[in-house]
Amino acid sequence: MNRTEITKELKILIQSTHPLIGIETVEEEIVTHYLKALSEEMTIEFFEWSTVRGLEATKGTYATRNTDDPLVCSKFMRDFAGTAVFLLKDFTSHLQTPLHIRMFREACQSLSKRKSSAIMIGSGLQLPKEIQHRAVVLDWPLPDQDEVKQLINKTFEKLNSVKPSVKFEIKKEDHLSLLNSLSGLTRAQVEDALTSSFVSEASLNANDLQTLLDRKAKVLKSGVQLEYIPPHKITSDLGGFKNLKKWLDRTQIAFTPEAKKRGVPLPKGILFVGVPGCGKSLAVRVIAAQWKMPLLKLDPSLLLDKYIGESEKNFRSAVKIAENMAPFILCIDEIEKAMEAQGGSSGDSGVGKRLFGAFLTWLQEKQSMVYVMATANNLDILPPELLRKGRFDEIFFVDLPNDIERDTILKLHFNRRTVDSSKIDFPKLVQATAKFSGAELEHVVINLILENLSTQVPMTTDLAIQECKKIIPLAVARSEDIENLRTSASMQFTKVS
Ligand code: ATP
Repeated sequence: MNRTEITKELKILIQSTHPLIGIETVEEEIVTHYLKALSEEMTIEFFEWSTVRGLEATKGTYATRNTDDPLVCSKFMRDFAGTAVFLLKDFTSHLQTPLHIRMFREACQSLSKRKSSAIMIGSGLQLPKEIQHRAVVLDWPLPDQDEVKQLINKTFEKLNSVKPSVKFEIKKEDHLSLLNSLSGLTRAQVEDALTSSFVSEASLNANDLQTLLDRKAKVLKSGVQLEYIPPHKITSDLGGFKNLKKWLDRTQIAFTPEAKKRGVPLPKGILFVGVPGCGKSLAVRVIAAQWKMPLLKLDPSLLLDKYIGESEKNFRSAVKIAENMAPFILCIDEIEKAMEAQGGSSGDSGVGKRLFGAFLTWLQEKQSMVYVMATANNLDILPPELLRKGRFDEIFFVDLPNDIERDTILKLHFNRRTVDSSKIDFPKLVQATAKFSGAELEHVVINLILENLSTQVPMTTDLAIQECKKIIPLAVARSEDIENLRTSASMQFTKVS
């Protein structure tokens, strides 16, 4: 629901004699401002209540003495003869005794008869159960992109009028990144973030985008079991994955406003299934860097620990908070861990399954720009419903690297560590590393460097091959498991290269 829709909804609720409306928000001032304007438009009286000031009317003069006492306030609402909107701040915390609740219920009954409404606002509204059935609770929306745009202009103009040297230096092609780095924040948070960026450097430029994103992550992350990985910590050395790279270029288009206008649905996510150590997690980090999207990592086992004995509703609310970070990539490494845990130490065998169900439903229904990238090593544990067509946009199979890929990966890892590998015969090394995963190839390179540092003997192909012989690749040590996985996954899923 955007701002226009919620204003419309509120108007209908007030007109249709709904005596009690709750508004979930942390933006008290803004909501008060809107409700005042709405009452004026509807030509009805507007009262604002807080425990400090009691009831205050916008227009008329009324006998509101002593209404800072919630009981007197409820009595006033009950006896008020006109039509009005009563905005009540923090009122729920005063509805503790049977007397207070009874008086408030009577107030609601009489408000309903006079086309009036009491509107409670706050964050984490907890209505007493005796009045819950009378209430309609709405979520006040965070600013959408148009409003964020207006806020940017307004903040800049305000600062520029005080200090004309302040400059807006974000290029047109970075405007969307700027909007994304501020989406999910409240109006006040947007203004604060922009003001501190403008003030610290007297300009807002491309360098500030990362700072804004990091700041947003700090603001929103608290309380959610997610690890934020900022884009600059992401390495982009990924060998192979040719098919995936092509596929991603096309999928990225689906996030553009043009695609949205033409009714292209938002991409949901991808699942990487494959041999351990072959670059699944690395691919996720590379995609995040390429798409310039922040990466949030969710550890399924942590989530399970946290929510054992609690309902899947908690999972949804955690994800809902995280959704305010959108657009972002949600990475779930080894998704099968969530399933493994279901019969585990919790003693509640249903927890994992229910949480998994909640995750699948969320994935199916999600409308936010959260792109899920999950990885899995063990196909046997994964429930078939996760793998069914349409759940993810694509399921990719990540196999052991072939000759060409091993050559690329080895060179990547030598180059990354600025090592002179000119004496290495790569075709020979490629031959000696059949069945090695990317992680094992990296290991060979690291061991070779360590050897070179400790003995000062120059690196040669023979020394490199000796290092290879010290490693028994997983695909050999657990050949049966790995071969089963490769056969089954290659038949079902799209290859990454
Ligand atoms: P696991 O399922 O065991 O977590 P994984 O498939 O997710 O394994 P990664 O964690 O991505 O594998 O790989 C481990 C490390 O191996 C990477 O950080 C990287 O250094 C190296 N590596 C693996 N594959 C590649 C590749 N294709 N290109 C470059 N490096 C690679």
